[in-house]
Amino acid sequence: MIKVTNQITPETAVKKNNAQTPFSVAKGTPQNNPFSIEKGTPQQPTFEKKELGEFNSFEAQRVLNVCNICGYCNGFCDVFDAAQRRPALTTADLAHLAYLCHGCRNCLYACQYAPPHQFNINVPRTLTQMRQYSDALHVWPSALAGALRDSAHTALLLTGGAIALLLGLIWLLAPNTNASGFYRVVSLPVMIVLAVIPLSWSLLALTRSWRSYWHLTRPPTAVVTWRSLRLALQDVVLLRNLRGGGPGCNDVDERFSHLRRRLHQGLVIGVGLCFVATLTALFYHHALGWIAPYPIVSIPVLFGTSGGIGIVLTTSGLLWLKWHGDLTPTTRSAQNADVTILLVLMTVAVSGLALLIGRETAAMAILLALHLGGVSALFALLPYSKLVHVGYRMMALVIEQIERQSAHH
Ligand code: SF4
Ligand code: SF4
Repeated sequence: MIKVTNQITPETAVKKNNAQTPFSVAKGTPQNNPFSIEKGTPQQPTFEKKELGEFNSFEAQRVLNVCNICGYCNGFCDVFDAAQRRPALTTADLAHLAYLCHGCRNCLYACQYAPPHQFNINVPRTLTQMRQYSDALHVWPSALAGALRDSAHTALLLTGGAIALLLGLIWLLAPNTNASGFYRVVSLPVMIVLAVIPLSWSLLALTRSWRSYWHLTRPPTAVVTWRSLRLALQDVVLLRNLRGGGPGCNDVDERFSHLRRRLHQGLVIGVGLCFVATLTALFYHHALGWIAPYPIVSIPVLFGTSGGIGIVLTTSGLLWLKWHGDLTPTTRSAQNADVTILLVLMTVAVSGLALLIGRETAAMAILLALHLGGVSALFALLPYSKLVHVGYRMMALVIEQIERQSAHH
């Protein structure tokens, strides 16, 4: 049960910039006041390494200190209750809060101290900056923090490189006349190498990154239970923190909607269907000796096709929301990272569907190179793109569930 410390809902939110606020401050407010944004307040970034970005821990502490005193948004998501349990707001606390935030934006449009109010409270943007900082801090190896921060160029380089490599191999190597289907053009060992090498590297990097985050944010006394895992998984499936306490996100502007939450869920289902299709195809090949391509009415093709169509539709919808959405609650670089991974997913899905349609035509070799190159780049990008958030968010939700259970006992 969500603990709601006040009864205010997004619908009852007061107008922005109410001049009669309890936190109105006059000039000359002491510099250590969390509401003070006067000149001289420590505003310099705490973290100066270029690849870690411009995250300002003083500013994040100021913003969340105001929220801890205000308490107005406590029913919107898990962030505000969790912040009140962490009044010190250390770097570990901020990293945890950053991933509890799902960016629903409710607290920006409901906040009477949001810009242009002088308090300049913008929680979604502040926590987005913290996520970017935390991602770069935990990336493995640390030398690749720049690759994560500039995921658009990284994605372009990896996708372009993988496709060019495949096209080069197809051009250099004569078709294998003893093989059939796709294996005439690209042999199975080459396909396996192009998948296994990037995937193995990425799984190692993700394990190192996620473990580092877990050690930083996990409270020392926290014990993971099956119940906390089950409830956290339920939060992931339902995207509870994208419901804004019930009425939905502010997807594009101040209006409420569940569109982004549903598109996100649809995208996960689409990726899941493609994953099942791939596993089934591997089983057919290695266990049953059935060689691809498979008939239209077969599990790999039916699941792959429906998953691919699902990915195209949901990524298109999410890109539309990005295109039309207000940039105030986020940062330009975070927006670029989101758009980048959506475009990579869309490329993989479109090339897969095109390969299905054109597998008996002369264009098959090029379509195969596009699809396999896209898949290989997607695997390599897992730790160096927005996709890294999957593990961080799951851990934040598990910690939240552990803390809720201990609060109830
Ligand atoms: S975002 Fe604004 S309204 Fe919400 S808790 Fe913080 S200060 Fe209060
Ligand atoms: S943007 Fe949404 S999820 Fe993030 S802190 Fe605000 S209300 Fe919570």
